[in-house]
Amino acid sequence: MKKLLSLCLCTSLSLSFALQADEKLMTASKKPIKNVIMIVGDGMGPAFTTAYRYYNDDPNTPEIEETVFDRHLVGLNSTYPAPISGYVTDSAAGATALATGIKSYNGAISVDVDKKPLKTVLQHAKTLGKKTGVVVTSQVNHATPASYITHNESRRNYDAIADSYIDNGINIDLLLGGGTKYFIREDRNLVEEFKEKGFQYVDNYEQLTSIKKEEPLLGLFAPVGLPWSLDDSNKHRLSEMTKIATEQLENKNGYFMLIEASQVDWAGHSNDIASAMAEMDDLAKTLIYLEQYVEQNPDTLVVLTADHSTGGLTLGSDGEYKWQPSVFKGMTQSISAIAQFIAEKEFTAEQLATMLTFALTDEQLSQLHSIKQDESEKITKPQLTRQLYKKLNQFVSAKSFTGWTTGGHTGIDVPVFAFGKGFEKFQNKTDNTDIAKIIFTIL
Ligand SMILES: [Zn+2]
Repeated sequence: MKKLLSLCLCTSLSLSFALQADEKLMTASKKPIKNVIMIVGDGMGPAFTTAYRYYNDDPNTPEIEETVFDRHLVGLNSTYPAPISGYVTDSAAGATALATGIKSYNGAISVDVDKKPLKTVLQHAKTLGKKTGVVVTSQVNHATPASYITHNESRRNYDAIADSYIDNGINIDLLLGGGTKYFIREDRNLVEEFKEKGFQYVDNYEQLTSIKKEEPLLGLFAPVGLPWSLDDSNKHRLSEMTKIATEQLENKNGYFMLIEASQVDWAGHSNDIASAMAEMDDLAKTLIYLEQYVEQNPDTLVVLTADHSTGGLTLGSDGEYKWQPSVFKGMTQSISAIAQFIAEKEFTAEQLATMLTFALTDEQLSQLHSIKQDESEKITKPQLTRQLYKKLNQFVSAKSFTGWTTGGHTGIDVPVFAFGKGFEKFQNKTDNTDIAKIIFTIL
């Protein structure tokens, strides 16, 4: 009897807990979506999230561990630009579609094919009284962030784009990334102008821990893009900045935030699998933080997609049924940093093997030496570094059986991930313009 009673008590207790949880869920689902966090993995086609699964796998366990991307996959997104630019988009047209719901030409920063400005979801959120934030690992005036914040007929007008962040009226409460080269110039100091408009300014990650909650925030941590994740003083700088941003943007009206893992694309352009995976790891850590955040703030929606895929990455090459991320997983500095080192200094095979975490063949070593010897007279240091970087990436790709088809973008569909409130709106096959259209209706 006693046993039965305690069993009953247990059941009714767990039932009441379940009811409480249900009520909490129901009240949460009746409330509108308060915060929208849009994430762009620039260049992150499906091969990148697949690659990250095997890169992340613990080879000491029989199963392949599920990644945060696996948990939240909801659909596929087509990325083609306006007809004038064919089927393969660049990041500007891609971000314009994602931010405004309208397709434009490659190079367009939220202007249509007639170069007329288009309203963006970030601008709309601001007019509705929400706070807005942008967190990227590129310079903050690069194609993707620019397409959410401003308008310009060309992504290459970096100074004009940065100027417009002030001149068109500030519509952001938080802006974190790189770009001092464009913000502190001989002809204009935009950092000072932001400060005059009431912004606090930081230029190193440590200062982020002591910022004032009440004041808008500008943080620029590098002249152009941030260092590669592998070389940065904080290898998870995107997740760190995101954490600060969610705390800083919290307010009763909610916020819209754009986060971009900008350098997945840059690694793709360089066919650099080691940095591609390190950048993906920073993005994965960002998502894992946001999973916890959404649990605490269930009226938040998180959507992640790519603007396009870069490099034509594939897993397996040369007819072999193999992909071996263990080749580069232990690297503690980027291939780009290693290339810079060997461009500047005499190096031994042992030194290089330590940096790469594997030994090159004699043939490969002599290829590096001949790049240095034959051409050091004729080419500039940056050119030499680029050639060595390219060659080292080829060695890493060959050893890990990583395939690439291009140094540019490809036109394949990209995955969509979503969680939190309203995530189901992004299910199945969508077009890049649908992402913005859905966000407009949510805001
Ligand atoms: Zn690109």
